[in-house]
Amino acid sequence: MYYKKYGNTEMKMSAVGLGTMRYDDGLISAGKLEACAEIPLYAFEKGINYFDTAPFYCQDKSEEITGMALSQLKRDQFYVSSKTNFNAIKALSGGEISRDAFRRRLETSLARLKLDYLDFYHLWCVLSLDAYETQCEALYRFFEEARSEGLIRNIVFSAHLQGRDVEEVIASGKFKGMLLGYNVLNYRFRQSGIEKAYEKGMGVVVMNPLSGGLIPQNPETFSFLTEGTDLNVAQAALRFVASHREVTVALAGCTTKEHIDDAVKAVKGLEELPAREVIAKYETQGLSFNDLCTGCGYCNSCPKGIEIPKFMDSYNQKLLTGREQEILDRLGGHWVIPAERAAECIACRKCEQLCTQHLPIAERLQEIAGLAK
Ligand code: SF4
Ligand code: SF4
Repeated sequence: MYYKKYGNTEMKMSAVGLGTMRYDDGLISAGKLEACAEIPLYAFEKGINYFDTAPFYCQDKSEEITGMALSQLKRDQFYVSSKTNFNAIKALSGGEISRDAFRRRLETSLARLKLDYLDFYHLWCVLSLDAYETQCEALYRFFEEARSEGLIRNIVFSAHLQGRDVEEVIASGKFKGMLLGYNVLNYRFRQSGIEKAYEKGMGVVVMNPLSGGLIPQNPETFSFLTEGTDLNVAQAALRFVASHREVTVALAGCTTKEHIDDAVKAVKGLEELPAREVIAKYETQGLSFNDLCTGCGYCNSCPKGIEIPKFMDSYNQKLLTGREQEILDRLGGHWVIPAERAAECIACRKCEQLCTQHLPIAERLQEIAGLAK
């Protein structure tokens, strides 16, 4: 395993970490949590020492499963992170935001993980600077208090902001590190953010390195990543992220032991380079990857009930293949949604304000509505 220093600390992290949002759904539904706990144990065996979890993941069982595994290990041999925000706190407090409600959420995470402290506690999922400011103002003092009591070691944030906005959060000087969605599709949105974090001595953990599965699902489009390697497209996309000098840990969401083997292979003999050099090495002409929906689902609050990620996923097919018909085929054949529903969009643009890729959703829906006529 290849290890990196977390920012300007002495902590050494494995270049790939375990993202614990992909434990086997079938096993969880069957109540077989111990079987899922074999995944983090196997990851640890393979040298992975960073485990990222959160409330709500995996039918809200991720923390418990991860705790079943980590409680079998020596506490100084791994790092674990969890997360909180207004939604997570309100879920346990009947809608209240207060010191007690914050503590209830944190103590629940600790109990589920069977731990006395978290190495990292995230101000979770900052989608806009406004949301960041509001939540930070309400919660940051509770984070500090928990840190001074030893319940958390490091205060960090996770965000889907663009690079410049990320830079603003970094400039606040409140955080030891961050968790950011970054991959070969969206690097242009976020590159300046990870560079700034590195410059400030912060740790950078990357989520969504495979863009929600979109990269391995389109091996031909992304085959350029594998040139000169013995890696498959998924491994090469993970390596793309991990080879950034600015990135400490690239999270791999693993359901099976084979997924872990894949992730471990992706960073074997890793060569670290500054972001600009990595990108220059991989940069290709043609398709603008930034135009693709990553399927993150943050736009899912349409007043007309339009299932936006499914429509935008279908639109991806056109961007990837150049054929408009692919949109309709995907909608009808894969998602089983009538394309005509796109016409119900009233262009309120609520979804666009939430979109982590800043896509012109209303415009695309209008285009789809036109194709469906
Ligand atoms: S712009 Fe259209 S798709 Fe987006 S939230 Fe408004 S009605 Fe829904
Ligand atoms: S449209 Fe934007 S917010 Fe919605 S799933 Fe796609 S990338 Fe995510």
